[in-house]
Amino acid sequence: MSGKAVRGGALLIRGARIIDPTQQLDAEADLLLRDGRVAEIGKLAADAGEVIEARGLVAAPGFIDLHVHLREPGQWQKETIASGTAAAAAGGFTSVCTMPNTSPINDLPAITRWLQEPERGALVNVFPVAAASVASQGERLTDYYALAEAGAVAVSDDGRPLLEDRIMREALRAALAVGLPVMQHAEDTRITEGGVLNEGPTSFRLGLHGMPARAESSLVERDIELTREIGGRLHVSHLSVAAALEAVRRGKSWGVQVTCEVTPHHFTLLDEDVIPYDTHFKMNPPLRSRPDREALLQGLEDGAIDAIATDHAPHAPHEKAVEFDHAPFGIVGLETALGLAISRLHGVRGVSLSRIVALLSANPARIIGQRERGTLRPGAIADVTLFDPTRRWRYQAAQGRSKARNTPFDGWELTGKVVTTLVAGHVVYRNE
Ligand SMILES: [Zn+2]
Ligand SMILES: [Zn+2]
Repeated sequence: MSGKAVRGGALLIRGARIIDPTQQLDAEADLLLRDGRVAEIGKLAADAGEVIEARGLVAAPGFIDLHVHLREPGQWQKETIASGTAAAAAGGFTSVCTMPNTSPINDLPAITRWLQEPERGALVNVFPVAAASVASQGERLTDYYALAEAGAVAVSDDGRPLLEDRIMREALRAALAVGLPVMQHAEDTRITEGGVLNEGPTSFRLGLHGMPARAESSLVERDIELTREIGGRLHVSHLSVAAALEAVRRGKSWGVQVTCEVTPHHFTLLDEDVIPYDTHFKMNPPLRSRPDREALLQGLEDGAIDAIATDHAPHAPHEKAVEFDHAPFGIVGLETALGLAISRLHGVRGVSLSRIVALLSANPARIIGQRERGTLRPGAIADVTLFDPTRRWRYQAAQGRSKARNTPFDGWELTGKVVTTLVAGHVVYRNE
């Protein structure tokens, strides 16, 4: 392999620590990209082509976020596809799955296609998740075949659950027929109504209505039973409680095709960390108890949890500047995901960088069926994230690329910084 020349039009990433879990690779090497694809990994000589010096940096398959709210169509005051994907690029994400709870809701192939048009100005790949039921009302299924044809990579009614057994059964069957996963926002809304925080000592102390852990775990248990009966693929969105993870472990041991994602805020913060009445700590699912977080950390370490997803949920400042009870749920997360993963999982818990890369790239690619992404095998699409795993930096939300600032992590010092993000071999973000 050595001594081969890089020709014009190609890009050589030189001397990086290449971490690619799909090839069990963690070694220093050069990475050659050509015509938007991975061409070669090895000891390569540059000649005429462009070179990125990457000594001290990790080169990983481009990160894929399974759960992002880009807010278009209809809610551009919160975020746009252009601003949201700029934030994604700064966070090392080369692909994002955009949730359907927009205005209108993405329950039609025309909307699914609109999201992917070049006019939207996306900096990274946008993979639409289409509504699982018409207007996400949980009554009638959308047309999964037509939505998949239009480019949807999954179905979900995120923001609310597929609650009734009947509609969940129908969704699993229809999604199985077209090969899409069903992403479930697992919340039994019959027992969380009016809830704004995890039910526990903190919600009692603050006098706020709690959301019990069993509202999540009971629905995950039900969904796994249904998936076991029907087949198909179930993906549990933003899993946050220990009992739900236990159910996923059980499902996996039975051979059920169930996967799950966890957000950085759920593996970082606790319900007791909530600054009283600060709406930047209000999200759904809510921050949970210490034993719940311990279970999540364990699952991220041992592989029971498949993916880290941000549930990036931008809101305009005035929307969050209201009473806790009335504020919308959600925080932004694209620009802090890697820093939190490295600081909390690698730094505090000793989780390997290779596992973190798998949680951010290889596994999510598999979940949405992107075989040419999430890997640096020769021939794969050249989506690449370069990051410095040791760089300390301070996150300043006001300097972020997202339109929104709603985050509890403003001013946090983090370790691990994205340096360069490439989509199909083109640099879409470079940290100066
Ligand atoms: Zn949700
Ligand atoms: Zn969401």
